[in-house]
Amino acid sequence: ETKIVVIGAGHAGGSIAGFLRQFGFPGTITLVGDEPIAPYHRPPLSKAWLKGEADAASLALRPASFYEEQKVALRLSQSATAIDRAAKTVTLSDGAVLSYDVLVIATGARARRLPIPGADLAGVLELRNAEDAEKLKQAIGPGKRLAVVGGGYVGLEVAASARALGAEAVVIEREARVLARVACAELSNFFQTYHGGKGVGFELNAGVEGFVGADGKITGVRLSDGRVIACDAAVVGIGAIPNDEIAGAAGLSLDAGILVDADARTSDPAIFAIGDVTRRPLSHYQRVHRLESVPNALEQAKQAASAIMGRPRPAPEVPWFWSDQYDLKLQIAGIPFDADRIVIRGDRGAAKFAVFHLKGDRIVAVEAVNAPPEFMAGKLFIGNAKPVDIEKLGNDSVSMKEVAA
Ligand code: FAD
Repeated sequence: ETKIVVIGAGHAGGSIAGFLRQFGFPGTITLVGDEPIAPYHRPPLSKAWLKGEADAASLALRPASFYEEQKVALRLSQSATAIDRAAKTVTLSDGAVLSYDVLVIATGARARRLPIPGADLAGVLELRNAEDAEKLKQAIGPGKRLAVVGGGYVGLEVAASARALGAEAVVIEREARVLARVACAELSNFFQTYHGGKGVGFELNAGVEGFVGADGKITGVRLSDGRVIACDAAVVGIGAIPNDEIAGAAGLSLDAGILVDADARTSDPAIFAIGDVTRRPLSHYQRVHRLESVPNALEQAKQAASAIMGRPRPAPEVPWFWSDQYDLKLQIAGIPFDADRIVIRGDRGAAKFAVFHLKGDRIVAVEAVNAPPEFMAGKLFIGNAKPVDIEKLGNDSVSMKEVAA
């Protein structure tokens, strides 16, 4: 009987188990995860769940009955410590050795840490998994002051959730603007202004030198200009590092992430890798890139399951992502590689607009705030690589339907 072992019981790992059964895989599937719980949705950890608007059960990726019904063996609270490619085995932390015919690595990424004084004080937090989220939730009640180190999506979402819970929030960012690595200046300015209107404070161009504390607990964040920002807790959201160490130790090709092809296959034909841990080809952009998003985890799970089952490769998808903050629904499609101009539609004052990034007359990315038609149309344009009428695109009195016609 063919044996598939999946390392990492997160979004990608949980999804491929489902796709394999859906595509008729009859053999054994073992899903190994180092967290104590079955695969769950991470996005709500900084949004609905943190605000208390979603319970633990609603986080689950699949109902508990799924694993039994679909004969997916879960090995939780176990980390895979080594892969032996010659013997085709995986060693687990409890000493068990699992043999595989096909191995899928779906180990995701972990929060990047700040190697600075005070980083081990109680109340210096990060947010990657359910356990982190529980600690953070305890720390942000009414009247508490939260320092958010890093103004990326996760940091801003946490700041919004903290405000919703009656806590104060101050975002500390090394760059001159929030979302500097991931969004254009127009979007950064909009989000910063919006958060400011909700009472979030900002320290921009601010290096963090250390965390200060008393009795082992954080009391503030020390900036490089010497000031201390007082707080009851700090959450560090400065990006994620791919968990590619066991793949590297097994000799698979890496480049800050496991290198895979368009079938999610690694440099070893018997081993696939999917999700945040991979660096993958993006067919719409003729580049390889590491994406960190749920749609990417799903797409690569489908690619690998298709390749394993000898099915045709699924049509390539345009990368996309979303973020929810207050009543703002941000949707992003594509990546603005080599973009040479932007076109803005809609009304920033009314919090309903989209920023299109173009290379010549092609849309390469769209960032849409409360603007689903712009997001949908932009995604289609990117997928078809169809030229767009720039005059019409920038004219709000021309509907998005007409622009796309
Ligand atoms: P993960 O879901 O991280 O799963 C990997 C699993 O493997 C983890 O459980 C990890 O502990 C485990 N593991 C690692 N090494 C080993 C090992 N050696 N042995 C066993 N197990 C191991 N994406 C969006 O598209 N939209 C959003 O709004 C959004 N919001 C987010 C908010 C937060 C707070 C976070 C943390 C992420 C968010 N993301 C969002 C990103 C999204 O959650 C990830 O892209 C997605 O979870 C990636 O799935 P994955 O399976 O590759 O990795």
